Amino acid sequence: MTKQARTRTREMTDILIVNANELVTLAGNNQKPRVGKQMLELGIIRNGAVAVKDGRIVAVGKTPEITKLYKAKNTVNVGGKTVLPGFVDPHTHLVFAGSREDEFQMRIEGTSHQEILDRGGGIQRIVRETRRASVEKLVDSSTERLNTMLEHGTTTAEAKSGYGLTTKDELKILEVIQRLNQLHPVDLVPTFLANAIPPEFSNNPEDFVRLTINEMIPRVAEKGHAEFCDVFCDRGAFNLDQSRRILVAGKNSGLKPKLHADETSALGGAELAASVGAVSGDQVLFSSDEGLKAMAEKGVVATLLPASAFNITNNRFADGRSMINLGVPLALATDLNPNCYVENQQLIIALACHFMKLTVAEAITAATINAAHAVNRAGELGSIELGKKADIIVLDAPNHKFLGYRFGVNLVDKVVKNGRLVVDKEAARTEFRLLEEQEM
Ligand code: ZN
Repeated sequence: MTKQARTRTREMTDILIVNANELVTLAGNNQKPRVGKQMLELGIIRNGAVAVKDGRIVAVGKTPEITKLYKAKNTVNVGGKTVLPGFVDPHTHLVFAGSREDEFQMRIEGTSHQEILDRGGGIQRIVRETRRASVEKLVDSSTERLNTMLEHGTTTAEAKSGYGLTTKDELKILEVIQRLNQLHPVDLVPTFLANAIPPEFSNNPEDFVRLTINEMIPRVAEKGHAEFCDVFCDRGAFNLDQSRRILVAGKNSGLKPKLHADETSALGGAELAASVGAVSGDQVLFSSDEGLKAMAEKGVVATLLPASAFNITNNRFADGRSMINLGVPLALATDLNPNCYVENQQLIIALACHFMKLTVAEAITAATINAAHAVNRAGELGSIELGKKADIIVLDAPNHKFLGYRFGVNLVDKVVKNGRLVVDKEAARTEFRLLEEQEM
């Protein structure tokens, strides 16, 4: 074949990303979440390239090989930079009204949690404001947070209800999540969360558990507004038995179980996650070794939330290192909520490296492919492989080790979501430079 003929037969694609210093593919077995040493295998291609067509990844390899076979309407040269799959954030409380900055201040000043509650703070304040807020208002405030997530490289996020605590308000939040999913490039995975016992049921919590099981879960399932059922299993929220009943009821209605487990004490949440076959057990800060081993055996992902530990739980962090040694598959999430107000998975990776002793490679695996497993999307997301969704980020960094190492800034230069270039900081910078030149 002559050179010209070869050029003519190159297949047309939508986007070609070329010359990546490191193309971090995380290619591998997608059947099960990665454990142990598998979490170190990033599948890096040097001088890598990716071809994208109709929202999907159609080719991955070395730049000269890929450009020989493919051309594109838009070729993005990312020389010197690092390319990764978009981050998946598998645990967020995205939709809420109100904020808790005053309580943050009070905590710094040493005010006790009880005193904050006595002054009308805590989760109940957010519940009051969220109940009052309209769907439109919640869509607007959540959109702003989703924009921030996308700019920081998150292309798919789980989003929970849980600040309504009445059937009507829980359904309202799930409707907001559904609307956001239609309106915003970031894909959302909806979860119904039994988050707390509302004050009107504080004297008869069992009645609220019954309402959750007999009314909320069936209505949520009937509307098809949630994929997962989550429960806050902790002191002051739902006990182990109530949590089990809620998760089983969810399962019977077709909602896959997930749970907030052992955040402030070893209640047996990890054991429960394993025994109900949860997709993930989240936080697992005080979980027993037996519970963690049970999760490892069942392949339940432990979704760690280092920002929430950094922010509220007396700076005690889950022991990610021992969990990896026990064979527990780890994911990382922001836990974005009014009491842990962070959208940035890059910071989560830094915290996991510093305080949970994960290597950068392990933390990247936890924030991409294993996070995709934690929301049941590993067949579609979390790695740069043929046929997967074209959710790709470009980091302004020479290699993946800059994640965690260079922190407190946004390393994301570009985001391709569903095959479209939706964030391009370099283009904005060029515009800025042109403006400067004009002014001179
Ligand atoms: Zn949470």
